Amino acid sequence: MAEWDSSFLSLVRHLPQTLLDLHARLEQGGFASYVVGGSVRDLLLGKKPKDYDLASSATPEQLKSVLAGIEGVSFIELGRAFGTLGVCYQGWLFEITTFRQESAYHDHRHPSGVVFINSLEKDLARRDFTINALALHPQKGLLDLHGGLEDLAHKRLKLVGDPLARLQEDALRILRALRFVSTLGFALEPATHQALKAQAPLLAHIAKERIRVEFFKLLLGGFVRLCAPFQPLLEHTLQTRFSPLERLEQISPNLCARLLWLCHTWESQTLLDFCARLKFSKKMRQSLHKLHAQLPLEPIENPNVWLKERLESLHLGQLRALLGFLQAQNPALSARLKGELKKIMKNHEVYSLRFLALKGTDLLERGFQGAQIGALLQACLQGVVRKEVRNEKEALLQYIQEYHTLREN
Ligand code: ATP
Ligand code: MG
Repeated sequence: MAEWDSSFLSLVRHLPQTLLDLHARLEQGGFASYVVGGSVRDLLLGKKPKDYDLASSATPEQLKSVLAGIEGVSFIELGRAFGTLGVCYQGWLFEITTFRQESAYHDHRHPSGVVFINSLEKDLARRDFTINALALHPQKGLLDLHGGLEDLAHKRLKLVGDPLARLQEDALRILRALRFVSTLGFALEPATHQALKAQAPLLAHIAKERIRVEFFKLLLGGFVRLCAPFQPLLEHTLQTRFSPLERLEQISPNLCARLLWLCHTWESQTLLDFCARLKFSKKMRQSLHKLHAQLPLEPIENPNVWLKERLESLHLGQLRALLGFLQAQNPALSARLKGELKKIMKNHEVYSLRFLALKGTDLLERGFQGAQIGALLQACLQGVVRKEVRNEKEALLQYIQEYHTLREN
């Protein structure tokens, strides 16, 4: 059996002091505690972890009573039945999970029950991939019971235990595997690969929200082209057809931009149905729909005017996503538009009524009314955007005069 390896103690200096404080408190209270999951994997890969998970022998109730004494600590219930407690402390949110073993799974996703146990070994055995089944202890070092270190060194993604059975238990692991391929650039170990293909139909049992979370992470990966062979699997799972995944890497990692690439050939209703099926947030659904309505982007005659017209109706973030999407279709044009956008921002060029030197009140004072005011301001804005008139009050009033006379004749 593998032993604790103290040569990895140097990793401990990368852990936040707050995490070490919580760990020490748990041990003083008589409980075991270890850093586990993605943070250990990321530290070994030389990456900064996004968040930290602890595994402990303490049950959620025991965790609360031991940690409640620390000033400034509060708790969030993250899944009491599964033994996960969120601990907020000094601006951090740590997830502490009681060592657990899962009993039989009843729907390819949820264990019918979990048993809290006093064994780190069994807790590590229930984890998905060998690279996610490592434990770090601030004084003992690293514990690698499933060959995770070797798999990390070989950039290999391997399920812990019998791959077919592990996917049968929880089919979401299929998508988790693909998202790690996409984010880490690892290859699937052959038996894991085989099992993935064999058990893919089980994804039909998985809740769409869970699928969406993993799918979005997959889309943002820096190695997403490696998922291209699984495009049919993803399409089957998401019940739709996409534009080729391998082109996604040409687009900076912006979720809206990458999603727009996948769906840019769809009818607008297909997009809305897709968003509803995967339960997208309202904000994401609206943004995507708005950007989709801008397609096709070409031809663009005057980049400067084109950008300013878009800035009237899109947020800057949405426009950036649109230009990100264009990287996959026409990289040269995308780069040109990005440069032009930078110039517009730097020179404070006018693209919105907010920046117009003429206001509604100026027109009201001159006897204009209601909807007429809105239309005239809009005409002024168009004139400024097209550089037909300077953004100065007198010049704009003069412009209105001409515009008005023109309309009346
Ligand atoms: P990330 O860096 O995206 O947070 P992560 O590996 O930490 O990646 P989490 O979803 O935060 O992923 O899960 C934390 C840990 O819990 C994993 O590393 C793994 O050990 C375990 N885990 C999560 N989901 C599963 C699952 N479906 N089956 C088995 N173990 C899982
Ligand atoms: Mg994590």
